Amino acid sequence: MAKAAKNNTSKLKFDTINYAPAPESKSSAKIEAQYDLFINGKFEKPSSKKYFDTINPATEEKLSSVADANAADVDKAVKAARTAYDKVWSKMPAKERAKYIYRIARMIQERAREFAVIETLDGGKPIRESRDIDVPLVANHFFYYAGWADKLEYAFPNRSPKSLGVAGQIIPWNFPLLMAAWKIAPALATGNTVVLKPAETTPLTALKLAEIIQESDLPPGVVNIITGAGATGAAIVNHPDINKIAFTGSTEVGKLIQRAVAGTDKKVTLELGGKAANIIFEDAPIDQAVEGIINGIYFNQGHVCCAGSRLFVQESVYKEVMRKLKDRIATLIVGDPMDKNTDVGAINSKQQLETIHKYINIGKKEGLEIFESSCALPKKGFFCRPTLFTNVAQSSRIAQEEIFGPVLAIQTFRTDDEVIEKANNTPFGLSAGVWTDKGSKIFNLTTKLRAGVIWANTYNKFDPTSPFGGYKESGFGREGGLHGLGAYLNV
Ligand code: ADP
Repeated sequence: MAKAAKNNTSKLKFDTINYAPAPESKSSAKIEAQYDLFINGKFEKPSSKKYFDTINPATEEKLSSVADANAADVDKAVKAARTAYDKVWSKMPAKERAKYIYRIARMIQERAREFAVIETLDGGKPIRESRDIDVPLVANHFFYYAGWADKLEYAFPNRSPKSLGVAGQIIPWNFPLLMAAWKIAPALATGNTVVLKPAETTPLTALKLAEIIQESDLPPGVVNIITGAGATGAAIVNHPDINKIAFTGSTEVGKLIQRAVAGTDKKVTLELGGKAANIIFEDAPIDQAVEGIINGIYFNQGHVCCAGSRLFVQESVYKEVMRKLKDRIATLIVGDPMDKNTDVGAINSKQQLETIHKYINIGKKEGLEIFESSCALPKKGFFCRPTLFTNVAQSSRIAQEEIFGPVLAIQTFRTDDEVIEKANNTPFGLSAGVWTDKGSKIFNLTTKLRAGVIWANTYNKFDPTSPFGGYKESGFGREGGLHGLGAYLNV
């Protein structure tokens, strides 16, 4: 281990294994030079006449121009969704609705490679992640909710569940296609129609999904996909003919949305930020735990609201855990997201990279000890070395605020009660991880940790059958599983 340098930074120097490049081919990805808005089953020019660029964050090259929808475009999309709801979708027998959702699921599987490549090009996440995690989960989500469409009476016995109407759905850039699936699949299964807006830095896979929806012959207007930035999102939120807002994104915007819908009868679910605690007890399988920690914070550049961004290590195993963690960080491959060897891809945008650097500087100024991988970073594009801070106080901003990058804040503990108190000491409550050999400890912690999702001896595992959502400033409402149906129904 390199000794701490004059300032409190030390770089980890190890002989990283040099793999030959294994780039995924881009040939399966057909990206148009320009994308319009998907309204009423057709791609339409925006009435704003404005377009914005979406770039590849790993190379800073432009991928496409995307329409910037204004309030008039939002209104058109909502009207299309309303007409489709009143005339077609709410009247269609549920088992017929299910067939469309199954068809979409199968079409996604058929074009899985193309979706994975475009997700990686537009968002910067490693191809391994988009190919093996995002896209299969997307198809599974549609399959799962297709199965529920004609069984809602069984999901809510004696409750006569009724659809809500038009759902406005606003999603972030960290899992662009997966978040679209999380939102669209349950809305359709429950008989609602949709106006969805992807994030401005990652609109392409949602637009590809629009192509599939068009090919699937889903009745026009049932799903409308419009692109734009915050103003477009706000126009959706404020549209008077929207019955439900489903939002995933920052706590800051979540609060704005909550204020905007206060006093209306719009139903809302908000899935917001997180500051998850990953807790390693002395009886944990340490190697497995270290791999889980790495997966939890570094594999997706920390671009996960449930990222395990705080690590609590029981004092008796602290040295061992730190040694293994640093060894592992040093072998992480940071770089071209299209390379199948890459562990840590590109940060989604320049702005996000600046936010991460701001926090790293805050940590340094607070006098925390910092370690970062010594890997070389590509000259172009937005990249950040896997970083960790030790000697972190509970009050440190690194331990309290969501960074959304590959930055881990490490603290120690002695007893169960101490770590429960420390882990709960945050405004967030989305997720947590517990690593221990003892089942009783797992039960003790899962009942006392204030987090919507708690993984035991694993991390960042998702399944369509399992509900996801937070406490406190991490939002409310659940997505996924049976709970995810309830969010789109009056029961
Ligand atoms: P992040 O900080 O992760 O980018 P944001 O909350 O800013 O998260 O963005 C998540 C989604 O919310 C994006 O689709 C973005 O365009 C949208 N958005 C941003 N501002 C607003 C707003 N005021 N009202 C509605 N949607 C918004």
